[in-house]
Amino acid sequence: MSYDSDETIQVSATCVSCGMPMASAADHAPGHPESAWCAYCSTPNGDLQSFEERFERMTQWEMRRKGRDRASAEAATRAYMSAMPAWRDYPRLRGK
Ligand SMILES: [Zn+2]
Repeated sequence: MSYDSDETIQVSATCVSCGMPMASAADHAPGHPESAWCAYCSTPNGDLQSFEERFERMTQWEMRRKGRDRASAEAATRAYMSAMPAWRDYPRLRGK
């Protein structure tokens, strides 16, 4: 791991939070070209956003993009996040 070289970032990386492919350094967290999560899942500091923030944004996206109602969008988001490395062990997603 080095941060001072200009070597090409690995193109096969996908965000551990949302699954988005990260093809270039700009797709990674700001200031962290080797981050495991993408720019959309980052705070302005480059940290991974909280579960609550991610959950809300993905739910909103499901509602907007797929025309789901709130309950349906939340269920879809919960199912999706349960498969993501960043969240699958999160207590709120465990059990029923
Ligand atoms: Zn992401």
